[in-house]
Amino acid sequence: MSTWEAENPKLGGLPDRPRVVSWGAGVEQCGLVRVKARSGVLLVLPKPPPRESSLGFLFVPPYRVQGWSMAGEQTCVMVPELDLCFDIGQCPRAALAAKHLCISHGHMDHIGGLAYWCSQRYFQGMGPGSIIVPAAIAKPIANMIESYRALEEQITPFDLIPLEPEQEHEIKNNIYVRAFPLEHTVATSGYAVVEKRSKLREEYVGKTQDELRAIKDSGKEITRILEVPLVAYLSDTAPCAALVRNDVRKAQVVIAECTFSEPDHLERSKVGRHLHLDHIIEWLGVLECEKLVLIHGSRRSNVIEARKRLRQLVKPEQAEKVEFLMDHRTNKERYERQLYEAQKAEAIRTGGRMPPPPRPPMRPRGPRV
Ligand SMILES: [Zn+2]
Ligand SMILES: [Zn+2]
Repeated sequence: MSTWEAENPKLGGLPDRPRVVSWGAGVEQCGLVRVKARSGVLLVLPKPPPRESSLGFLFVPPYRVQGWSMAGEQTCVMVPELDLCFDIGQCPRAALAAKHLCISHGHMDHIGGLAYWCSQRYFQGMGPGSIIVPAAIAKPIANMIESYRALEEQITPFDLIPLEPEQEHEIKNNIYVRAFPLEHTVATSGYAVVEKRSKLREEYVGKTQDELRAIKDSGKEITRILEVPLVAYLSDTAPCAALVRNDVRKAQVVIAECTFSEPDHLERSKVGRHLHLDHIIEWLGVLECEKLVLIHGSRRSNVIEARKRLRQLVKPEQAEKVEFLMDHRTNKERYERQLYEAQKAEAIRTGGRMPPPPRPPMRPRGPRV
């Protein structure tokens, strides 16, 4: 007699090609599943673990916005074109490649993977990345990484860059990350990524090189700095002044939390100091971005319902701006359309064969954010 038969005397022998026949409510709660043996006897086996969902992905030319974000679980959002990652609740493999990591605050769903990120980058010979953190929590963060050094008995390198509100750190030539304060239950920073371009002053446009050199030699400044906001990141926050900053409002891509979307969850958002869809709707009136990527939805929020409410309450061009990072199906369909448009443009340019059109969007069904 097998161990199975000994432990399950009423169920009979092991199934030959078992087949799942039902998901009884009580059985499912216990993490078990009924399977039917060849003999027709019902057996009860453990359920396999749930599959991890893949990273959310959006292409907002020229930026990819990718990552995973669920309120209270983990948030980690990467913009590979900027070598930048925002928060690291857990550390997906793709996040290791980011050279710069901005931490918004010390809640575990935003910082839990930090020590792992440092250690894995070291292990894989990737060199220390820069960790940009709110100055108010730099000390405990340093202490945490130091503790892991002791635990692992290795000198894991790390480059901590504390930023006070409005301080900046250059991450690429002329591209800076600027910190600004958010209003959450703990010290929290948002980040604006801005490019600083040197532009000739209006009054000198049209002058020859020799004339410009002469003006410069006389001690006058012939250029001015033009600031172009590229990306803004606002993690956990209540509605606050940061929402109407120029480097946020005018950023090409704004990545922001929206933890709650159901109308009766407004009170919860106030208690946890989070953004609610109602706040986003109001905010859209002043946002000039090309895309607003919403993250940090709670598992109770339904993205389909959220989109429906958005379409009912804002202008169509404003609703068009909004994407949900974890709405895999919509984002996949969007990417397929982008691929099709790119292939079509190339076919027209080269006189080649036209690509087949993408599949029509599927019937909306609710992935939950
Ligand atoms: Zn959070
Ligand atoms: Zn938080």
